[in-house]
Amino acid sequence: MPASLPRSARARLPELLAREEAAFAERTPRSRRLFEQARGELLAGVPMSWMSRWAGPYPIYLDRAEGAELSDVDGNSYADLCLGDTGAMAGHAPPAVGEALADRYGTGATTMLPTEDAAWVAAELSRRFGEKRWQFTLSATDANRFAIRIARHLTGRPKVLVFNYCYHGTVDESFASLADGAVVAREGNVGAPVPPAETTRVVEWGDVAGLERELAAGDVACVLTEPALTNIGIVLPEPGFHEALRELCDGAGTLLIIDETHTLSAGPGGCTRRWNLRPDVVTLGKAIGGGVPIGAFGLDPALGERILAARDADLEDTGGVGGTLAGNALSLAAARATLSQVLRDEAWEGTEVLAGRFAAGAREAIERHGAPWHVVQLGCRAEYRFSPEPPRNGGEAAALGDPELERYLHLHALNRGVLITPFHNMALICPATTAEQVDRHGEVFDSALRELFAA
Ligand code: PMP
Repeated sequence: MPASLPRSARARLPELLAREEAAFAERTPRSRRLFEQARGELLAGVPMSWMSRWAGPYPIYLDRAEGAELSDVDGNSYADLCLGDTGAMAGHAPPAVGEALADRYGTGATTMLPTEDAAWVAAELSRRFGEKRWQFTLSATDANRFAIRIARHLTGRPKVLVFNYCYHGTVDESFASLADGAVVAREGNVGAPVPPAETTRVVEWGDVAGLERELAAGDVACVLTEPALTNIGIVLPEPGFHEALRELCDGAGTLLIIDETHTLSAGPGGCTRRWNLRPDVVTLGKAIGGGVPIGAFGLDPALGERILAARDADLEDTGGVGGTLAGNALSLAAARATLSQVLRDEAWEGTEVLAGRFAAGAREAIERHGAPWHVVQLGCRAEYRFSPEPPRNGGEAAALGDPELERYLHLHALNRGVLITPFHNMALICPATTAEQVDRHGEVFDSALRELFAA
């Protein structure tokens, strides 16, 4: 039994959850009907199977979303703190992006030809993340996959090193974890092409000695990591960790790929700029397209020269780096409008303050009700976790998982007009988020804890 709740609260949980499920059914009859109709057509009744993960027995169906407010087909509205798990970090339907999309779509979206926007976006990303040579994909997953391929090609080495309980999209090499020091497949991994120990070395986050040992094997092409783990809850680095990581990679001839897909929350240039990191490759995704699919990877200029000069690297046809729709004009028009007009440098001044307000509200409720939990913030992202102290690594963070408690908190919030990402106990703030929405969460969270921890 997880230690996240005292015995009395744990005993109360099933009844509270049942009550929330009943309330959910009452409020969402149209969503339920649409879900039931879709079941015969869609696997698991949803367009992508992870959509089953929402806290209710079926997901609410979207009617419309604008700014940080979302409404479902039953006419309920929600403060959207999920924001498409970062895909809508610019807010939903920002008008500037809508206009750019309408213009671009009306004049050709996918032609296999470059548009001016690509170089503009690349220059802007270099201004934010340091000078790189950029390529565009349709997802962060693809950006990571292609970055790994290029790292393997340039180093002639087979392996990727990742940190335990990382997530980088559906990248085969990253679905590896540690079990008693051995590399094993991540639980439930579907149809792994080869046992992950063949492709991957795994170290716990922050374990500098382990990193040194694994890199010393000399077979690691690249380390792929987020600058702070965000996908097993937020796990921040200890002081000095990134310096050690950079130094060890340099010493071992291993390339360092920093995945800023989520940690763009930390500022306009992610943690790379905020913490002065020096990655060889930066990868990005969802947020920079303002809701339109895009991913990007930026290579250090010298690496860019090397891969272009490699005669045996086919970057143009069937070499394994590509995608017909990658770099399409529509995605790049969206990215240009998003970066130039919505997620501008100054956007974080407001969003980070509101994330702080979310964190303070959650902390107050936690203290008021004596919950043995804590709150962590990274820029415009903040999250509560079920332990008194922050976990130090992925293994510790994974041990804090408490699906029943999360289901209750998320459903309780949903029933009261607050949408939380199913995969995280997290609030993401976009430029359109208001203090009222953040405070709405504070009140709802407080009432959930009052019920749970009632004397
Ligand atoms: N990298 C990180 C750090 C992520 O969190 C995610 C998705 N949550 C991805 C990559 C993959 O993004 P996508 O699913 O859009 O390809």
